[in-house]
Amino acid sequence: MDIRSTSEIELDGLAPEEAFSILGNEMRLDIVRALWSAGALREYEEVDDADATISFSELRQAVDIRDNGQFNYHLSKLVPHFVRRTDGGYRLSEPGKRIARTVVATSGGQPDLSAGVRTTCPLCGSSVTAAYDEQWLRFSCTECDGMFGDVAPDGAIFYAGFPAAGLNGRSPDHALEAGLYRCMLDLAYLMRGVCRECAGPIASSVSVCESHDASGDGSCLTCGTPFVAWVTLRCEGCRFTKRLPIELCVMGLTPVIGALYERGIDVLSPSFGDLVGAIATLFRTTVTHDPLQVTVAIEDELDRLTLTFDDEMTLVDTDR
Ligand SMILES: [Zn+2]
Ligand SMILES: [Zn+2]
Ligand SMILES: [Zn+2]
Repeated sequence: MDIRSTSEIELDGLAPEEAFSILGNEMRLDIVRALWSAGALREYEEVDDADATISFSELRQAVDIRDNGQFNYHLSKLVPHFVRRTDGGYRLSEPGKRIARTVVATSGGQPDLSAGVRTTCPLCGSSVTAAYDEQWLRFSCTECDGMFGDVAPDGAIFYAGFPAAGLNGRSPDHALEAGLYRCMLDLAYLMRGVCRECAGPIASSVSVCESHDASGDGSCLTCGTPFVAWVTLRCEGCRFTKRLPIELCVMGLTPVIGALYERGIDVLSPSFGDLVGAIATLFRTTVTHDPLQVTVAIEDELDRLTLTFDDEMTLVDTDR
């Protein structure tokens, strides 16, 4: 019997609301957890998965639901979307594995960030504090306004989602390194129109500060940030969103990755100081109106690369 192909067709039709309602039950999540704990998940498609299953009786024992009828009922709700039944027994489906992975990634106690942060503020050189709340990692300057103006807490220089499990065994400085790495890889996906979370298409928009003046202490009084143009990259499907200065966003594009690499900066394995230093010394951003376009030039005495974008972050001109 070919269970696999029929259940995959049904899975295609599962709406998010149905998925939420199927999973909104503690016993069903216990079943997912029991299968994950037992290693009952297949690593690759099209590979014999007889070893990667557990039998009905083993599963029932692991979940510890006394009432046979209840157990059967909840298990039947999870099949086929989240749990697969094969001749060898039960295992998690790919979506079931993703649910289990999300639970693993977001589990963990309050992380210990008390070791202190050695990294200093890339904008002003002052000391930096670390905080973690609701799966968001935040590094803040103790002196200046930070990078983000009003859209993030005061002084934030790094502010992004970070799974709790990723903090295990990492010092605050190493967590910042990992966070930056994830952020730059996110940009490489998003700038190619692909959602990092769900692979769906990305809608982009550019907003500019109309009376930008960062010539004083580095932050503009109007927008509260050093950056004139900001890009919002948003997945219409799963709502994964990033909002970052255009200079950081273009670092997801191959010509910019190449130009910076030639100057000794690896944007995919970055140090915060290198990134912000590069923006301060190599990047020049100009805005023109009617229609709104933003040009980012990466320029030194050797070479000049310019990229011009419209208000939806479409690359309309490039010149080297
Ligand atoms: Zn600072
Ligand atoms: Zn401004
Ligand atoms: Zn998405």
